[in-house]
Amino acid sequence: MNQLADTFRDRSAFAPSGPYRLLPARFSRLDDRRYVITNDVGEYVVLERPALQALLRHELQPGTPLYADLKSRHFLFDGESRVALDLLALKYRSRADRIADFTALHMFVVTLRCDHTCSYCQVSRQMEEKSRFDMSQAHADRAVEFVFRSPSPAIKIEFQGGEPLLNFDLIRHVVLRAESLNREHGRDLVFVIASNLTRLNDEILDFCKGHRIYFSTSLDGPADLHDERRALPRGSSYRAAVDGIQRIREALGPDAVAALMTTSPGSLPRVREIVDEYVKQGFHSIFLRSLSPYGFAVRTSLVRRYDVDDWVKFYVEGLRHIIDLNLSGYPMREEFAAILLQKMFAPVGNGYVDLQSPAGLGIAGIIYNYDGAIYASDEGRMLAEMGDHTFRLGHLDEDSFEEVMTSDTLVDLLKDSMLEGLPMCSDCAFMPYCGSDPVFHKATQGDVIGHKAFSSFCKKQMAVLRHLIALMEDDASARRVLQSWI
Ligand code: SF4
Repeated sequence: MNQLADTFRDRSAFAPSGPYRLLPARFSRLDDRRYVITNDVGEYVVLERPALQALLRHELQPGTPLYADLKSRHFLFDGESRVALDLLALKYRSRADRIADFTALHMFVVTLRCDHTCSYCQVSRQMEEKSRFDMSQAHADRAVEFVFRSPSPAIKIEFQGGEPLLNFDLIRHVVLRAESLNREHGRDLVFVIASNLTRLNDEILDFCKGHRIYFSTSLDGPADLHDERRALPRGSSYRAAVDGIQRIREALGPDAVAALMTTSPGSLPRVREIVDEYVKQGFHSIFLRSLSPYGFAVRTSLVRRYDVDDWVKFYVEGLRHIIDLNLSGYPMREEFAAILLQKMFAPVGNGYVDLQSPAGLGIAGIIYNYDGAIYASDEGRMLAEMGDHTFRLGHLDEDSFEEVMTSDTLVDLLKDSMLEGLPMCSDCAFMPYCGSDPVFHKATQGDVIGHKAFSSFCKKQMAVLRHLIALMEDDASARRVLQSWI
């Protein structure tokens, strides 16, 4: 007994020792002077070191503006009331609510064939004539049944490839079949075709009218930059993309098409031109994306030709240019920043599949491959094409929806992707705004959790979040622009 008393301090040593008690929070350095302190519901406050020390030592004085601010943002509470704790729990539940409504995004790889030969292709596309890489109608029908087993009230079916328009007959079949089943299920059902637009024609556009079908395409920047990486034998990929964008807008409306860019080594010194190309094409949104380590991007070593510091420099310059465009009167949103800002300020966070805890694997999005195999994410099937089947959940011929969603594979992956329990992430102030990317860490470090001290994903997250928080603190006009994206 005496030995125990020597080892452990008496409970009175842990009693509240000041006018307030601390609520759960984490802090990290923002720069050499300031710290950012965050809590589980996404609130943050930036403090200089003396203020942080005073907070943690219970030395803040009630009645001061800092005390009131920290109290209203759930970093401390005083008195005996449980209201502060109950309110915090309610906000935490609201942010986690979407997990109950799984799975909103269902991706169909209707073919792996493609007419492009992009050097950074992440899906290991196949030659145009190899029809054995098309999804069968039987697999498509079975996948549509899976779609409506998901409890999510909103369903998005996304057609992927390869180039999905090379198998448009199957797309038409899936759309009609899903709409027919939805008469009974009553979900908010939309479709997206992720296409390079080379095969777009009037017949396709006529069908898209009235079926809530949207397009997503690639636009990497000005013509020479776009065509440098997105090679189209016998033509210009850029020309096909911008002509296609125009035709879709005319036929389906101005918001029926979105574009995505991928940063190749040639993009690094040209971010302003890339943003200006989006303005030229009438877009009010751009997603500045780095290369992912899958498929041909790895086989051609393209992914190793710049590092995360290069990309962050590119990103910071691009974001500045976008903010300046907004200040000069052209509304434009950078989507990566918008996702992070929504996580920081919106009460329900953001549902972006690639930044969730637990990871969005299977529960935010699921993918049915051309051969009937089911994967937990788009990147998971990309990794499978490279010989790693870690993220394979089952097969449409062999497994039921229930078997897939409760499989040990999926449950273990989700358990291993809760940031709240992962080394380094559990102590990181940026955790409420971050997410797990098990596929990236499996691809780059051979482990789904990964060692965050050596993770370029982690380095990128920290750099962008630090930059956004510093902008919000130090630049009032930038703050106004950034807040308008939430
Ligand atoms: S991945 Fe990095 S930035 Fe994200 S929560 Fe983990 S330690 Fe923090």
